[in-house]
Amino acid sequence: MKEESCIFCKIANGEIPSETLYEEEGYRVILDLGPATRGHALILPKDHYASLYELPDEKCGEVLRLAKKMAVRMTDRLGCSGFNLVQNNGESAGQTVRHFHMHLIPRYDGDGQEIGWKPGKPEQEELKEIRKTICG
Ligand code: AMP
Ligand code: ZN
Repeated sequence: MKEESCIFCKIANGEIPSETLYEEEGYRVILDLGPATRGHALILPKDHYASLYELPDEKCGEVLRLAKKMAVRMTDRLGCSGFNLVQNNGESAGQTVRHFHMHLIPRYDGDGQEIGWKPGKPEQEELKEIRKTICG
C-alpha cells in the first residue's frame, strides 16, 4: 500500500529519483540527503508503514537482514570502523518522516558525530517499578 502524500513512498517506488545503493522486491536503500557521516543511508520498505508500530512482524526480520547485508558491504567499501543502526518512531523520538525507515550510519574514528544519550542514574526501586509497569 502506498500513501499519496508520502515522499518516501515515492522515493522507494522510484517515482522520485534517489541515489539508490540497493533495491530488491520490497525495499530500496538510498543515501540520506542530510547525512550524519559519509555513506549514511536509509532502508525504505516500498509499502507505506508510518512507523515500527505498523510494520508487519514478518518485515521486521527482513529489515534487519537487509541492514546486516548493507552494513557488511558498506564497511568493506567505505572502510568505516563502526556502524550504527538507528530507527526513530514518533516525533518525540526524532522521527521527521512518517514512513518507516532504518538509518544505516557508518562510523569513522574521530568523525565528530554524537549518536547517543545522557545516561540517567535510577535507584534500584525505580528500576523495579518500571519493570513492573512493563511486565506486570
Ligand atoms: P528521521 O528523522 O528518522 O525521520 O529521518 C529522516 C531522514 O530522512 C533524515 O536523516 C533526512 O536527512 C532524510 N531525508 C529527508 N528527505 C529525504 C530525501 N528526499 N531523500 C533522502 N533523505 C531524506
Ligand atoms: Zn510512505
